[in-house]
Amino acid sequence: MKNSYSNIFTFNKKILNKTIKTLKKGSVAGLPTETVYGLGGNAYSDKAVKKIFRLKGRPKINPLIIHYHNIKDVEKDVKINKHVKKLYKHFCPGPITFVLKRKNSSKISKLACANLKTIAIRFPKNKIVRSILKKIKFPLAMPSANKSTNVSPVNSLDVFEEFNKKLKIIVDGGKCKIGIESTVLDLTSNPKILRPGVIDEKKIERTLKIKFNKNYRKRKILSPGMMAKHYSPGIPILINQKKHDGTSAFIYIGNKYKYKKNFFSLNKKNNLNLAASNLYKVLRTIKKKGYKKIQIHKIPHYGAGIAINDRIKRASKF
Ligand code: AMP
Ligand code: MG
Repeated sequence: MKNSYSNIFTFNKKILNKTIKTLKKGSVAGLPTETVYGLGGNAYSDKAVKKIFRLKGRPKINPLIIHYHNIKDVEKDVKINKHVKKLYKHFCPGPITFVLKRKNSSKISKLACANLKTIAIRFPKNKIVRSILKKIKFPLAMPSANKSTNVSPVNSLDVFEEFNKKLKIIVDGGKCKIGIESTVLDLTSNPKILRPGVIDEKKIERTLKIKFNKNYRKRKILSPGMMAKHYSPGIPILINQKKHDGTSAFIYIGNKYKYKKNFFSLNKKNNLNLAASNLYKVLRTIKKKGYKKIQIHKIPHYGAGIAINDRIKRASKF
């Protein structure tokens, strides 16, 4: 079935087949995942990968996450270790990405991995993308479906806003449940978090029975999620704000200012996971309402709050 937007489709068997056909041809599609919407293409195909970089305007040095249906599917591409096995059991399919050593025999496009000797792999939980991954004979290179440095999309209409008719297919899967990008974990040596997400440091430490080395943050790692400017709605953002300036949009968590104009709560009940899932939606709404500036109140720095703080810090690099 077609929606009023001619390239946004409600998922059904016919659209499943149409999407698979598009991907097999080396074309790309906007697809829902539980984190954010992705721009997916055949990870074996340089042609598809080039298309992804071109559409996003993404620097070539920023590698893409490769999405699989099942752990068995990754054995030919990466070197599996005990950590990834444990974490897979606990959290997958789900919002966590593992950076692992590449096998020489791997057919994954080197362009997709920015010519690194590592591959970032993920097993998305969303049923739609899983049903696609199950039916195709190749993994999907899939970054977020937004132009480089913009806010990530959490609805099919957000994807349309980013790429308009440049995509033949955007599969509608409703609002993304997690609403913020996956945790990225480097497992090539001692585990390190490259990008925080809702599966936080503590949960990973408990599962692996390890303690992260707190100095890892200072190390330089080639990782797009770690680039200074990212997730930006295109207007200035000020973080750790105490007082409203009277005209800006003011983002906070809780219900203290619930009847006040210009105040936007990420979650009225102080739930940090739900707050994270609303962040990008609220940023897009504020931009559409025509505000010229955003102030963000201090966000608690634990659990999903760490991921929120990571994204808003980068979004504030205007
Ligand atoms: P995005 O495509 O916006 O979700 O960002 C991709 C994320 O994947 C970045 O934050 C990187 O940390 C990570 N990434 C992808 N491939 C690799 C790789 N081969 N090595 C290290 N990090 C990677
Ligand atoms: Mg992204």
